[in-house]
Order: sequence, then structure tokens, then C-alpha cells
Amino acid sequence: MLMAKAVASAGSDQSSEKPAQPLITLRAISRLYDGGAIAAVRDIDLEIGVGDCVAIVGASGSGKSSLVNLLCGIDYPTAGTVSWEGRPVHTRRNWSRLRRESIGIVFQEFNLMPTLTALENVELALLGRGLSVGRRNARAAAVLERVGLKSRMHNLTTTLSGGERQRVAIARAIVHEPKLLLADEPTGNLDSISVANVADLLFRLREKTGMTLILVTHDDTLAARCPRRVRIRDGVIVDDNREVTAHASGRGQACHMSSAT
Ligand code: ADP
Ligand code: MG
Repeated sequence: MLMAKAVASAGSDQSSEKPAQPLITLRAISRLYDGGAIAAVRDIDLEIGVGDCVAIVGASGSGKSSLVNLLCGIDYPTAGTVSWEGRPVHTRRNWSRLRRESIGIVFQEFNLMPTLTALENVELALLGRGLSVGRRNARAAAVLERVGLKSRMHNLTTTLSGGERQRVAIARAIVHEPKLLLADEPTGNLDSISVANVADLLFRLREKTGMTLILVTHDDTLAARCPRRVRIRDGVIVDDNREVTAHASGRGQACHMSSAT
């Protein structure tokens, strides 16, 4: 509750530049499992603005992934409404269109096809969009270059390091230029150097494109690099912290870049 109000007023100084609607609005969202025995998400209100850079933090089992799944329509709430740009999203078809056009998702486990090269994995995300093979190939190659994998794009993903695999997954998630990038513990399976590199990449991409970034993590150091941090405990939002920066603009606030870039 407390955060919904905070978000509603945030950025009002630049209201002429801000879109009228938040990108995503959750109203009284709950997700129960096992016939109600487990309440993974309980009566959550949340607004994510266009261009926001938000960390969702909380201990293991606190409901972060359940929330992420509701934010992209992989799963549906037991109660409440999820709206995208002010319009309630109800149907499976609406959600698949949003994921195809406007949402990119990165998971902890990479979820790449092991029998395909990095390039082929990214190209897969462009199927069914009316693009020629050549265009698909060129776009996938360009985005892999952007994430620093130009020289590895023809490698099978099984021959890549964890950090490189996650870069492929990020390339796949952004190749259709989504408005929202959702990353659920994207550094959870990485060594500490790769954690810094992958996090830097996510923040840099957000900075360059202006896309909204929701970064789910149990790592407080990583979360501290986001100007807004939403903390979940037992399925409830217990804190919603927002740094106010002098440079906040209609494209959202800057995420903190590490000096280890
Ligand atoms: P987190 O991502 O923060 O670790 P989750 O959202 O995965 O937390 O889980 C929140 C709670 O919901 C946990 O108690 C978990 O065991 C439970 N849970 C998650 N998914 C399911 C499911 N499909 N069926 C039953 N319980 C689930
Ligand atoms: Mg999780």
C-alpha cells in the first residue's frame, strides 16, 4: 500500500514528459498455491513506471519469482488485476502478444537450447515475426555483438562460460527491443566476476535504450545499484525505497554503474 502512493507521486515534477500511465500496475494481487495452503503473493499493490530501474529483493521463498511470473503473464493471479499501460491484461493471448512485442525475460538458469549456437538461440526469438532469414541473422548477430559476444556467436552454448551463456540469454531477451526487461536472479548461477559483468551489461543496456528494468535478486549489493528497491517478505511488500536524483527524467533514473566495467 505504502509504495503505491509513493510511486504515484514520483516524477510528478516532470509530469509533462512522463507517460500518463505506469508501464505495469498491480492491484490487490494474490497468488495462492495448493488450494490456498501456500500464499506466495498476498494482496500486492505495485506500480512500475516507464523507464524505471527496480530491484525486487527478498530471501529465498519470499515470493519474488511468483511475482515475476505474474508480471509477464507466465502465471495468473488468484485474485487482483495486472494492467499494462493502464489496460487490464486478462487473456493468455494478450500476454503472449506482450511477451512477443514488449517484454524480455532472463532467468537464472539461462534456458538456452544446448544443441544450438549462440546466434541460433537468439535467432529463435525472432521467428514468426515476418523477418527474412537474412534479417533475423543480421539482427541476432548485431545484438550478440552488443553484449560482447561477437567472437563467440557461432559457438554452441554448451561451450560457453556461465557469464557468456547469460549474455546470450540477455541478447535473446532484448533482440525484439522490449519495453520491459525482467531478470529473475540473472546472476544467481555466476561467479563473482561474471556477476559484476552481467549486472553492468544489464544496467548499460537499460541506460542506452531507456527500457524498464526489473531485476529480481537476493543480493543486496546488486540491488543497491538500482534507484528503486522493492522488498518482499512472505509474499508481501514490506519496503519500497526510491532514491530521488537530480537527473531523474522522463526516461527514468540512472542505475549505478560499477567501476569494474
Ligand atoms: P522466491 O523466488 O522468492 O524464492 P517463489 O516465488 O519461488 O520465491 O516461492 C514463494 C513460495 O511459493 C515458496 O513457499 C514456494 O515454495 C511456493 N511456490 C512457488 N511455486 C510454487 C508452485 N508451483 N506450487 C506450490 N508452491 C509454490
Ligand atoms: Mg525465485
